[in-house]
Amino acid sequence: MPLLEIENLSVNYGAIQAVRGLSLHVEEGEIVTLIGANGAGKTTTLRAVSRLQRPAAGRIVLAGRDITRIPADEAVRSGIAQSPEGRQVLARQSVQDNLELGAYTRRGPQVKADIYEMYERFPRLGERKDQLAGTLSGGEQQMLAIARALMSRPRLLLLDEPSLGLAPIIVREIFTIIRELNEQGVTILLVEQNAKLAMNSSNRTYVLEAGQMTFGGDSAQLVNDERVLHAYLGG
Ligand code: ATP
Repeated sequence: MPLLEIENLSVNYGAIQAVRGLSLHVEEGEIVTLIGANGAGKTTTLRAVSRLQRPAAGRIVLAGRDITRIPADEAVRSGIAQSPEGRQVLARQSVQDNLELGAYTRRGPQVKADIYEMYERFPRLGERKDQLAGTLSGGEQQMLAIARALMSRPRLLLLDEPSLGLAPIIVREIFTIIRELNEQGVTILLVEQNAKLAMNSSNRTYVLEAGQMTFGGDSAQLVNDERVLHAYLGG
């Protein structure tokens, strides 16, 4: 049974059909990448899975359970967490407050322990725990956005454009973290403009065009696929 199964998903914004009959699956333990041009429907797909966006049609199934219509907070409790495009940390709150916010579905002493675990994983967040999140660098804010998502202890982590606007050396650092998280058991669905890096870091890739999946397969094979080379790798 896949950890995540999307069947015939359609999502509309008024008259705009952002996602049209999309089907895909993510197996436990995988990193799966969604690539596609601006407006292809990648963010909308992630937001439908995290239940921030209401599907017009189709089914979203998490570990065999139909979650198509559950509320967003229940999706978090069910093991789905999203690090959104543009990071969206709370700029006027401290790093620590942002992490506590990520644990809003949880209570008890384990939350504090998990915050300290995040400071071990992301030492720069620990050094800046009382600093306002808005004063962090772009890379640090991205780490905070990922750490905040991890605070709900997700089985499935949705990452929307983690490399956006970051210097190459920071991007490599973020992707090292993504691979480490995966090795430690977090399944990841990744949306990324940096197609090459994303494909080199993932098991499988789906290509979206105008709200539909055009093709997909093993990332290692797709990086050499003519269609991907021309459209997404500048080949
Ligand atoms: P990007 O990389 O630019 O974020 P994307 O592949 O993630 O692109 P989406 O953001 O999912 O694409 O957008 C899919 C389509 O839905 C686009 O045509 C976009 O203009 C439209 N859209 C997205 N959000 C909204 C919204 N809140 N209201 C109306 N239309 C929207």
